[in-house]
Amino acid sequence: PRRKSPPPNQPSGVAAAPRIRVLLPLPLTAGAYDYRLPPGLQARPGSFVVVPLGGREVVGVAWDGEPDPLLPARRLKDVRGVLDAPPMRESLRRFVDWVAAYTITPPGAVLRMAMSAPAALEPAPQKAGWQLAPEALREGVRLTPARQRVLDHLQPGEVRSGTDLAEAAGVSAGVVRGLADAGLLVPGLLPRGAAFPLPDPEHPGPTLGPDQAAAAEALRAKVMSGQFGVTLLTGVTGSGKTEVYLDAVAECLRQGRQALVLLPEIALSAQWLERFRRRFGVDPALWHSELSSRTRRDTWRAVAEGAAPVLVGARSALFLPYPDLGLVVVDEEHETAFKQEEGVIYHARDMAVVRARFAAAACVLVSATPSLETLTNAETGRYDHLHLAERHGSAGLPAVEAIDLRKDPPERGRFLSPPLIEAVKDTLARGEQAMLFLNRRGYAPLTLCRSCGHRMRCPNCTAWLVEHRAQRRLQCHHCGHAEPIPAQCPECKALGSLTPVGPGVERVLEEVQQLFPDARRIVMASDTIPGPAAAAAAAEAIATRQVDLIIGTQIVAKGWHFPHLTLVGVVDADLGLAGGDLRAAERTLQLLHQVSGRAGRAEAPGKVLLQTFSPDHPVMRALVSGDVAAFMAEEAAGRRPGHWPPFGRLAALIVSSEDEREADRAARDLGLSAPRAEGVEVLGPAPAPLALLRGRHRRRLLLKARRDVPVQPLLRDWLHRVELPNSVRVQVDVDPVGF
Ligand code: ADP
Ligand code: ZN
Repeated sequence: PRRKSPPPNQPSGVAAAPRIRVLLPLPLTAGAYDYRLPPGLQARPGSFVVVPLGGREVVGVAWDGEPDPLLPARRLKDVRGVLDAPPMRESLRRFVDWVAAYTITPPGAVLRMAMSAPAALEPAPQKAGWQLAPEALREGVRLTPARQRVLDHLQPGEVRSGTDLAEAAGVSAGVVRGLADAGLLVPGLLPRGAAFPLPDPEHPGPTLGPDQAAAAEALRAKVMSGQFGVTLLTGVTGSGKTEVYLDAVAECLRQGRQALVLLPEIALSAQWLERFRRRFGVDPALWHSELSSRTRRDTWRAVAEGAAPVLVGARSALFLPYPDLGLVVVDEEHETAFKQEEGVIYHARDMAVVRARFAAAACVLVSATPSLETLTNAETGRYDHLHLAERHGSAGLPAVEAIDLRKDPPERGRFLSPPLIEAVKDTLARGEQAMLFLNRRGYAPLTLCRSCGHRMRCPNCTAWLVEHRAQRRLQCHHCGHAEPIPAQCPECKALGSLTPVGPGVERVLEEVQQLFPDARRIVMASDTIPGPAAAAAAAEAIATRQVDLIIGTQIVAKGWHFPHLTLVGVVDADLGLAGGDLRAAERTLQLLHQVSGRAGRAEAPGKVLLQTFSPDHPVMRALVSGDVAAFMAEEAAGRRPGHWPPFGRLAALIVSSEDEREADRAARDLGLSAPRAEGVEVLGPAPAPLALLRGRHRRRLLLKARRDVPVQPLLRDWLHRVELPNSVRVQVDVDPVGF
């Protein structure tokens, strides 16, 4: 029995029974509740306990802090049981509390992320298998070769399942049964959960170049120190940053502590996993949203028991119960994919630093184009900074050029300009690969009626419907709404007047099919590369030169190493620059720099062509000159005087309701009771960036404060002061990224 219950005959209402606080994985604003711990049960902070809540039983965690001694005993309920699971460590409990306080979320909502594999707390079914009987160990037992092979596959004391044994020994199940009948095998219990193979830190890795070796040495020292500290690891694309931090992972393993590596798109990281395998001889344990519930449970348990020493995962891996985390790596730290925008709204890069701090672990943030936040922390000395200046091996950086679309416009109805078409032609003629990058799924981002000008928009969102020609549908990329492409305009009823406007990757593919009918093509977008298997297959096809032309959205930007790829064409380099987003330029630079970095990673030199209407834009200039540092310095100079992040603080309140007038009213009420304080300013209410999303009308208030102002108490007070109807939802987004 893995759950301990109080002995039956104990009176449970004894006044002196100790009390504990229990946090439940539910978004209850009150936080932890007090419960009575009946005699016979023992719990300490971190213990998983079963408690009654409104007629059902819930598993929660005994939490820190003092129960309220003034609560009368009769108001308290009894703890029903204590689970036999490794208790939640203090470092994780403090992290949960910290994230809750920082993001203004009920701690229970954060705890829920740390208990995301509830099945892991249930008794794992322990199955029976076979082990060697004492008779089998005696000298001089005579056996058939088949039987001998089976026994050879068992260590004394080891338990394996019958099918597993038969398979390993290459015999039929009957042979195993025969051994049991002969008394040479006896039943035993199989170990619980899945076994994770241990990565071997001494497995031979690549010989590091001098720059790499120096950086690796510095990181190893950080890990060995056993202290918290953050290091920014930068370097041009292809400089070998990954090998450097894998060396730190090896050091962490030698120290007997766990390492966590966060990747922005774990499901697409086939090549990364291959490199891990080469470095450590085995696969790491993975954590992301697409794991089966069984794998989740096994992984969660393995982490809790220290049996999965390296975990590679998406942001939610921060909330796993590592017993002794020694290293946290955030690769591509500038990626917006690390921001969780639903439920508990948090930035995994920032929380990784906090997780590392509570665990006394080293933290490494890795990027070729770090965020201004991280760069500023490095410049002020809060973070150490290591830099790799050159590409690994003989590869040089690609030459980047802008194509001015005002001077070299594409032909009517096309999207590729003559110089880009020429360059693709030359590349293919040399037998090399080319990539066309456009960060837009589907065929066309807008469908317009040529007769009346009507635009096809989503009924639930402030968004145009995107044509997906292959499926003959119009889709909303925000809510999933889809409808067939209508034959006539819904507004003026004209027949055949609806026209696609602008390109998506499918349309670029169509153009390429006409221009280069013989080239073998692949489209890489989230709908064509939905998961790890497809990503691995695509990477394999490209690496083995079964593909000449790659057409892709932002998923092609991330981490890929395609040695035969020498040309990258950016179809619309201006795409991310529109709109009033504070970080639009920074983000466009990061994305395009990353895409450019895919070109020329082996011996043949790479070339990048940017199609743009504004070749003089600072982003284009930085990409062409390669001087990212100067661009970031300019970004900083632009944000500093106005106290914009990272030189000031921002928090957004998104107020939403299905009823537009109610949303307006609630936003106005919040605006009227906005906090007034020195160095604090409240902007809005104004329509949120997606003013209608999934049928909810959204308004936004922005709280902007000087860096030295703690905004959380202000936000908490503000939300407490205003009484809003239940149908109104208020989301707090501290450090918003898209505005
Ligand atoms: P970055 O992350 O800086 O873009 P990577 O770590 O992906 O660079 O390295 C680029 C390529 O060079 C990869 O294919 C990697 O396997 C290879 N590489 C890096 N360092 C070494 C090394 N020391 N020895 C051999 N190959 C290396
Ligand atoms: Zn929609």
